[in-house]
Order: sequence, then C-alpha cells, then structure tokens
Amino acid sequence: MVTEPGPGRETMSQIAAPPDLEPAAEPAREAPSASRREPASERSPEAAGRSPERRPEPVIEFRDLHFYYGAFRAVKDINISIEPQKITALIGPSGCGKSTLLRTINRMNDLIPGIRTEGAVLYHGENLYDRDVDPVEVRRRIGMVFQKPNPFPKSIYDNVAFGPRVTGYAGNLDDLVESSLRRAAIWDEVKDKLKQSGLALSGGQQQRLCIARAIATSPDVILMDEPCSALDPRSTLQIEDLMAELKQNYTIVIVTHNMQQAARASDYTAFMNMDEDRAGYVVEQDATIEIFTNPKEQMTEDYVSGRFG
Ligand code: ADP
Repeated sequence: MVTEPGPGRETMSQIAAPPDLEPAAEPAREAPSASRREPASERSPEAAGRSPERRPEPVIEFRDLHFYYGAFRAVKDINISIEPQKITALIGPSGCGKSTLLRTINRMNDLIPGIRTEGAVLYHGENLYDRDVDPVEVRRRIGMVFQKPNPFPKSIYDNVAFGPRVTGYAGNLDDLVESSLRRAAIWDEVKDKLKQSGLALSGGQQQRLCIARAIATSPDVILMDEPCSALDPRSTLQIEDLMAELKQNYTIVIVTHNMQQAARASDYTAFMNMDEDRAGYVVEQDATIEIFTNPKEQMTEDYVSGRFG
C-alpha cells in the first residue's frame, strides 16, 4: 500500500529550534498597506452585496518586509498574502527582486553572508524570522525547485529518499518514494529504473524528479524559481499540468519571466518593479485574470502589454 505524504500541518512551535536562543522582538502587526488584499473577514457582506463568506487564512503573509544584501536594499515594503492551495506567480522585470522575495519564504537567503531582513514573513501566522525557528525545518515544510534541474548525483530512488532519510522518516521508505514520484507525475517513466542515476534523465524528467524530492519531505508550500526556463516547450507544459495537479494539496509560489506562463498557470499574480534606488516592491497583487486584463495600475498595464521589461 502506498503511504500518501500529505501536507504537513504542524504549527511553528513544533518546528522551532531548541529554546537556547534569545527570542526576537515581536513582528509589527499594524494595519496592512494598500498593496495587501483585504481579507473577506474585514469586509461587510452587505457592503460587498452578498452573503457572508470566509476567505481561507493565508499560508504566507509578508508584513512590511525589507531585505538587504549588505547595504543594498533589494526589496522593500512587501505586504502581500499567499492563499492556500493556489498558484501565485511573481512577475516583473529582471533584477526587481522576485527570486530574492521567493527565497525569503524558506530562508534560503540566510545562506548568503551579510544579508539582513526587516519586518516579518508569517507562515500560518507565525514569523519565520523569529530567532527560535529552525531554518532547516522551515525548508522541510517549504520546499524549493530551482531554475536548473539539480538532481543529486545519486540514483532516482536515493534522490527522493534523501530528505526523509536526513529527517529520520520512520515509515515505509519504498512507499514514500513511490507516492512522491507518482505525485510528481514521473512514476511510470522511472519505476523500472529506480537504481539508475537521476542525472541520466532528460531535463524535464529531472525537474519532475526534483519536484518529487521536494514533495517527499511533506511540505505544504512549494516554491518554484523559474522552473521551466531550462526546459523545452513540451516539458514546460508537463510541469504546468503538474502544478495544476499539485495545487490540490500544496500552495505554490512561482517566479517566472514568462508572462504567458503566469497567465496560463497561476491563480494570483504579484507584479513587482523597482524604484530609482533599485529596491524591488510589489506594484499590485490580484487575481491573475485581473492583472492581465484589468489591472488597477498603469505600470502593470504597461508591463503586461510589453511596453517595458
Ligand atoms: P529577479 O529575480 O527579479 O531577477 P533578484 O532577486 O535575482 O531579481 O535580484 C534582485 C537584486 O538583488 C538585483 O539587483 C541583484 O543584483 C541583487 N542580488 C541578487 N542576489 C544577490 C546576492 N547574492 N548578493 C548581492 N546582491 C544580489
């Protein structure tokens, strides 16, 4: 029987590091800025002209986030929310901070010397940047797929089993490997060659193997940084189909420079640009259809219609 590695649901207190570090100051919780969408719970149903409905709690919420590489502020004033089980695309011209912002969600930037973060990134309501949060555990819950497929120089099986082994998975590893490969829509192509090297697969297969590897640690969020930019059109469409499948169980945030891809594959889009100081910021976030057909900001319209970028 196959064990389904369902999305993890522990709270942040369960992913905290041992309490030997000083707690950080409470993140600011003041009113959201204009760029943050108003939760349904804050709107009167009468004003909205319909019966009460509840928006799901966001999985990720940026609260006045600023991110610095040394003295350089790469992104500023970020106040957006990421809804569960949806695909949110980050779009904008090269260098506006899309990848940087994506990497703040699983603290991948921590690995770069001299970085500094102000504000908060809330994950299920708790700040990922609190001092007692273990970044390794954060990365288990918030998986990442990179631009260039990067399987380890190991067998297909060992690629998928790697994370669960490191984190001491106590269940049936064969079942977990199979279910992860199935969820990544690559099981049928590799089931007879699990002992072969992951590097022997095609680019598109390697990327799906990397998605299986990310899924195997039971994340509930998957970050994708231009996951198709090294792939041919057929493999790109396979990954987009896979994303549509995965969002039934996972929350996906994708950086893409390909606007057709954002329009095709995402539910929500955040358009970023950069100021004269080169700091990136979110111009507008909305349902993807709105961003592409009826944006509120002229700058968004200019970008999506190809006038700059
Ligand atoms: P995008 O993904 O939108 O192309 P990035 O997030 O890669 O933008 O980069 C945003 C800004 O941060 C750019 O000015 C880039 O040069 C800078 N940057 C990115 N990574 C680093 C780094 N490791 N060290 C210093 N500056 C960086």
